[in-house]
Amino acid sequence: MDDCIFCKIVAGKIPKYQIYEDDNFIGFLDINPLSMGNSLLIPKIHYRWVYDVPEFGLYWEASKKIAEASIKALNADSVSFLTIGYEVPHAHIRIIPRFLNNIHQNGLDLSHHEKYTPHEMTEISQKIINFLNK
Ligand SMILES: [Zn+2]
Repeated sequence: MDDCIFCKIVAGKIPKYQIYEDDNFIGFLDINPLSMGNSLLIPKIHYRWVYDVPEFGLYWEASKKIAEASIKALNADSVSFLTIGYEVPHAHIRIIPRFLNNIHQNGLDLSHHEKYTPHEMTEISQKIINFLNK
C-alpha cells in the first residue's frame, strides 16, 4: 500500500532502528516506546491484522525470539505482547519489555511514551541484536 507507513519502512523509504529480519518479517524499535526496547514486528507484505498473516505461527515464534533477546539484553523482568492494531493499518505485534517498579506497574499505560536520543536508540537496538545473534 502506497500510503502505509510500515510498507515504507519495509521498503527502506523511512529509516528504522532494525533489530530483526527473516524471510517474512522485520523487527525494529518503536520510535515512541512505551518502555525501553519496545519493538514492533511486522510482516514484509501488507496485511491489515495480525491474524491475517498466513505464517501466523512463524510470526509468534519470531516475536518470542525478540522477546527473549530483549529480556536478556535489557535486563527486563518480562515482556508484554500487544496487538491492538488501530494505530497503523498494517499488522504489527508490539513487543514491550517490562521493568520492575516503573510507571506501567501491573498494567500498561498506553499514554506513557519514553524518549531516547538517536544514540541511545542505536545502543538499545545493538544490545538486542547481539542477543538475537547468540
Ligand atoms: Zn503496509
